[in-house]
Amino acid sequence: MIIDCHFHVDETMLTLEKMIEGMDKNDVTKTALIAPMNGTMFELDSIFQQGLQHLFRFLILNIPQIGLGIYDGLVKDGYLKLYGNSYKIFTKPDNDIVATAIDRFPDRFLGWVAVNPMTHVSVEEVELYLNKPGFIGVKAHPFMHEYSIKALDPVAAMCETKGMPMIIHLSSEPDSYKYLPENYPELKIIYAHAGLPFWKKLWNYVKNQPNVFVDTSSDYLNPSIVKKAVESLGYRKVLYGCDGPYGMKKFNEYDYLTKKSWVDSLQIPDNQKEYILGKNFLALID
Ligand SMILES: [Zn+2]
Repeated sequence: MIIDCHFHVDETMLTLEKMIEGMDKNDVTKTALIAPMNGTMFELDSIFQQGLQHLFRFLILNIPQIGLGIYDGLVKDGYLKLYGNSYKIFTKPDNDIVATAIDRFPDRFLGWVAVNPMTHVSVEEVELYLNKPGFIGVKAHPFMHEYSIKALDPVAAMCETKGMPMIIHLSSEPDSYKYLPENYPELKIIYAHAGLPFWKKLWNYVKNQPNVFVDTSSDYLNPSIVKKAVESLGYRKVLYGCDGPYGMKKFNEYDYLTKKSWVDSLQIPDNQKEYILGKNFLALID
């Protein structure tokens, strides 16, 4: 069974019906949804943009002191700045959008509860969503919402007690990937985008952390980074995800094939790919 562990709902970009169609075509049984994190964001298909992405990856991997500076510059004053465009970041992501999608397609969608601790959302409010059908864990975005990882203490404690995972898009806060595993050793954690912006350093650390994983999602990555992550971490610690609809060029035309091909093209046995494509995630939400 193939499960996409990281996808956003934003029907201004991709309708639920089109998502189901794309999932069917690519044998994806279920997708774990997250509320939209920012305003509608279509991208250009330009060589210039691809060149920038390539350079960014190179710097993060090889000259992180420069790469991290660029990364930090992507978020400013509540906006995400990409390729000369600005997109409003939603301070309080609307989890009802995810609840509605699950109601409409309960067999196809799961849900992450998106939390921004800077909005002083109570643990009780988060629990209310976690008790709704289909919700499987909590999404946190210290990068776009600009807070220290320590702000996640209450929600991390709650998730650890409930045995529910968290999926986290890290900021560049030094060593922040160590904080939750050290303080909540039983907490199941997925670091989004293969642990961006730390990659190699994070993989070295995560290797020895039994409850910490990474996903393969987003255009921040490419096949080579996914390959490096799997080589470094092993197939039991990597989870397939797309991070769609971000990266789209046109309304209702999401390219499901590319992200899946990053896993399909790995030089590992098929039964190991099955773990990356779904079994690892199923074990986490069991
Ligand atoms: Zn995402």
